[in-house]
Amino acid sequence: MSELNLILLGPPGAGKGTQAQRLIDDFRLPYVATGEMLRTAVREGTPLGHEAAKYMNNGDLVPDEVIIGVTVERLQQGDTADGFILDGFPRTVDQAKALDAELQRVGRTLTAALLIDTPDEEVVRRISGRRQCVKNEQHVYHVEFDPPKHEGVCDQDGARLVQRDDDKPDTVRHRLDVYHDQTEPVIGYYDDRGVLRRFDGTRSPTEVHDHIRATLATLRLEESL
Ligand code: AMP
Repeated sequence: MSELNLILLGPPGAGKGTQAQRLIDDFRLPYVATGEMLRTAVREGTPLGHEAAKYMNNGDLVPDEVIIGVTVERLQQGDTADGFILDGFPRTVDQAKALDAELQRVGRTLTAALLIDTPDEEVVRRISGRRQCVKNEQHVYHVEFDPPKHEGVCDQDGARLVQRDDDKPDTVRHRLDVYHDQTEPVIGYYDDRGVLRRFDGTRSPTEVHDHIRATLATLRLEESL
């Protein structure tokens, strides 16, 4: 089987994390989520965390020179030999170029950049209701669409559910501006290289997942011909 090197693109709240979880279940690939890596660094109080927190709290991007090194280093670990699912990176064209350079250096190519297209008003609606577990931030709920059995408590481990600071409405709107200004050009970058695949993020998670799976199956079939 060939490698599956995947990028998930889309605005905050598009459902990238949800789709990543399903793709991990399907393909057993390592999940490299830069936002999660940075939040861990902030919690642990590392130098990276101190630097990143200054930007993250306002919903701004961490500078390229800070994020590129740690992401490339993560991709160099042995568990990515069969592929990876990258979520939250690249967020600028310079990050995309740095990723290309690294993949080229090690003789690998990107399988696809999966864009989960979602309009701004839907993003705001989704993010404002999002709650995550204090113990494991991959345990995510929504007060309206996917509530836990007991309000404010994680179904999976009984820990408290909280709203991320940067999920507060003003910060969400700023993150959307940042997305349109700095990350949208990345879509064109991958489109020009023929690896962009678009999905309708207003559909249910299961529909989006089915569509992604069908697309990946087609890509693999084409590759094997
Ligand atoms: P996320 O969980 O992907 O929404 O990321 C949360 C925050 O981490 C973002 O708002 C940025 O401040 C920072 N961040 C995550 N990934 C990147 C990246 N590739 N480039 C710059 N900043 C990032």
